[in-house]
Amino acid sequence: MGQVYQIPMFQPSNLSPDLSGKLQKLQEICAIESPSNHANAIQAVCETVENWLMPFQPVIQHFDHPGYGRNVVFTFPAQQAHVTGGIFLLCHVDTVHPVGTLQKNPIRIVGEKFYGPGSYDMKASVVQAWWAIELLLAKQSSLAYPIHLMLNCDEEIDSPTSQALIETYGKNADLTLCLEPATPDGAIKTQRKGVGTYVLRVQGRAAHAGNEHTTGVNAIAEMAQQILRVQNFTRYEQGTTVSAGLIQGGTAVNTVPEFCTMEVDVRIEDEEERKRLEREFHALQVVDARASLTVEGGVSRPPMPRTPAIAQAYEKMKQIAAQTGFALREASVGGGSDAAYVAQLGKPVLCGMGPGGNGAHTLQEYTDIPSFLERTALLANALLHWYD
Ligand SMILES: [Zn+2]
Repeated sequence: MGQVYQIPMFQPSNLSPDLSGKLQKLQEICAIESPSNHANAIQAVCETVENWLMPFQPVIQHFDHPGYGRNVVFTFPAQQAHVTGGIFLLCHVDTVHPVGTLQKNPIRIVGEKFYGPGSYDMKASVVQAWWAIELLLAKQSSLAYPIHLMLNCDEEIDSPTSQALIETYGKNADLTLCLEPATPDGAIKTQRKGVGTYVLRVQGRAAHAGNEHTTGVNAIAEMAQQILRVQNFTRYEQGTTVSAGLIQGGTAVNTVPEFCTMEVDVRIEDEEERKRLEREFHALQVVDARASLTVEGGVSRPPMPRTPAIAQAYEKMKQIAAQTGFALREASVGGGSDAAYVAQLGKPVLCGMGPGGNGAHTLQEYTDIPSFLERTALLANALLHWYD
């Protein structure tokens, strides 16, 4: 507080006159159903956004990945001082919703809620990024630092084609803003858990359930004992949760099942716990020596600890939010995101800078329209004033 800014801050109310036009654009990209791995649809979303941004003459880089689609980086070059550093904005354009979800959660506005698959996670954020850049360049046509905007095509499947690119830009930037949606109550995310999946497979021996019960080796019965063991790997005090989530086994009720497969969700807050789980899962032994057990998988998204760089960036963003007219809060959440890759490098990153809403990954997904305005004003102000 107390800082005097040469260029006045945007207020959400300044943005209202353009709101309906921007919601139309949101409708346009939500209407393109773009689940991960649907390369053509993902590419279509990227091209639409590219057309929106074209008037600002960014440098555009395409990174095509057959089967995944395209990662795109738009750079709004610095005209004056430093050309390295700058601010890195991170969005993804893939969703978890299979094609056809539009029928189940049609695009519509009810009160102050914009409904539609992928609206909250995170197509509203893509419109927000574009709008904030438009506001910024209207005030400041010649930038003193570059701004990079990345559209990631595969965030929802753990970013196999985009991780390295995110790390490259995150490493160079002075600040990374991951525009994942805010929490339903509007907080940004300064700490996230690491996430992963372990897959356990038991092989037993099939047999007639009645006539040859003694020679059969029941894979489901064996797995049942493993479930109790892995659930006990949970350590709430350390922030570690282990949850048997999916299980499959057996072929017929009157056959001793030969196979059973289980997928286990794990969440951790630090590297030590990742190592402990790795040890514990791989030390699992079968109870019935005639069965065999294999273990695969592990933590695929690292945790995002609240590093000093993140705490400092949060304090600054909180001040900018106060000048934008609202109180910014922070939260620690259980889900992983691309922001973790940048946090691991010790660089400042704030996640959840996108609009609020609710129902991510469900048929009730919506974006909160007042929050969309508020967050766009905040982002425009951050882009404009971060170096003040
Ligand atoms: Zn997301």
